[in-house]
Amino acid sequence: PSGGRLVVVSNRVALPRQSAPGGLASALQAALRERGGLWFGWSGKLAAETGAELHRLHDAKIDYATIDLSRADHDSFYAGFANGTLWPMLHYRPDLVNYQRDHLHGYLRVNELFADRLRQLIARDDIIWVHDYHLIPLAAMLRRRGVKNRIGFFLHTPLPAAGLLIALPNHRELLETLASYDLIGVHTARDLRALEDYFLHETGATMRRDGRLRSANGRLFRAAAFPISIDTAGLAGMARTAMSNKEIGQLRDSLEGRLLIIGVDRLDYSKGLPQRFQAYARLLERAPELHRRITFLQIAPPSRGAVLEYREIRRELERSAGHINGKYAAPDWAPVRYINKSFPHRLLTGYYRTARVGLVTPLRDGMNLVAKEYVASQDPDDPGVLVLSRFAGAAQELTDALLVNPADAEEVADALERAINMPLAERRERWNAMMAVLQKNDITAWRVAYLQALCR
Ligand code: UDP
Repeated sequence: PSGGRLVVVSNRVALPRQSAPGGLASALQAALRERGGLWFGWSGKLAAETGAELHRLHDAKIDYATIDLSRADHDSFYAGFANGTLWPMLHYRPDLVNYQRDHLHGYLRVNELFADRLRQLIARDDIIWVHDYHLIPLAAMLRRRGVKNRIGFFLHTPLPAAGLLIALPNHRELLETLASYDLIGVHTARDLRALEDYFLHETGATMRRDGRLRSANGRLFRAAAFPISIDTAGLAGMARTAMSNKEIGQLRDSLEGRLLIIGVDRLDYSKGLPQRFQAYARLLERAPELHRRITFLQIAPPSRGAVLEYREIRRELERSAGHINGKYAAPDWAPVRYINKSFPHRLLTGYYRTARVGLVTPLRDGMNLVAKEYVASQDPDDPGVLVLSRFAGAAQELTDALLVNPADAEEVADALERAINMPLAERRERWNAMMAVLQKNDITAWRVAYLQALCR
């Protein structure tokens, strides 16, 4: 099965000559170029009818094929079921799930349309790699259309324990379709345990001695953990160069010798931003000697504004940032700088390197690439300290970070104080250990390991 093209399928496609591709997009493009390949997914555009037209493009040895979504399908499939039901569920927030049966139907309808279109694009020995929670049932739908190819799936979010998953209405109808893949990849051992536990105890699957699972209806499939990573060397180089950028100089000048704490997150309730702000406020409350000596820069580009919970958390953070500054600022010092804008990696890496502390405290996160990027961007001679939530997938690998429970403001404040006061020797030691992990498992190692496992 290793002879054919690679076909990548994901909700969004990183088309050439759009904005600079992120780490994952670059890695997938590299894999596609190596074998020759096709990337299929949503164009990101709306049209009168879903999938009426197939947009095709060929660039740098890669074929791209995309379809548009109708407004109704976008609202039910993407905003409704994928981001309004599955995302909160997968991030351990059943309280935020807004389940509507017509959203589920929209989700299934769009997946069927993806399957119809994709069916016509694939050849017999192509390897198919499907990404993320938007497309869980795709393999089952392709199988029904007679597709016998190797098909792999990678889940970029966490997978909660079975006891929580069963709260999802129609969970079995949806999740059991995962057995139609040949390989299911997740980020961590914990996610893998949850997947196996769900299949074994909720669906009547069995575990074979060779480690493969056998579904209730007899299909054999494999599941394994592949922690995603970053382009470690590339980002380290970018961070070095960034330091001569005008913007980085401006940030440094503005600090006037103060120590910088940085947070960079999509504005998402899974990122623990309200709790993070509270922990920072707690630090200011109990350590007046740090006033004027530190500044917290939170970059938080808004996302998914079509979903109510995202508009609400945005308002909450505006209040919280305003409250902290109102309470603690002086005419010549503001403790919080809060920015709802996104920045390119060329600048982010420089901001990371300028910051003595990287503050990454999601309540749940599949991996959290920002944590890894912060580490890769540090100056080896004078590295900063990572304060990291235990509930980010990255905490499984970056065990030399200061690991915290993001819900415990006191514990996060303790870690911040420790990071601020940490001697150079200890900073170096911790950073070296984390950097070694990231050099060994970079984004190339991740996609090679996954594709080898899928082709085996
Ligand atoms: N990012 C960016 N500009 C920003 C904020 C974030 O390019 O202003 C990038 C960030 O560098 C990282 C990605 O977005 O590569 C976020 O990935 P992560 O795994 O941390 O969280 P996600 O947003 O996927 O939940």
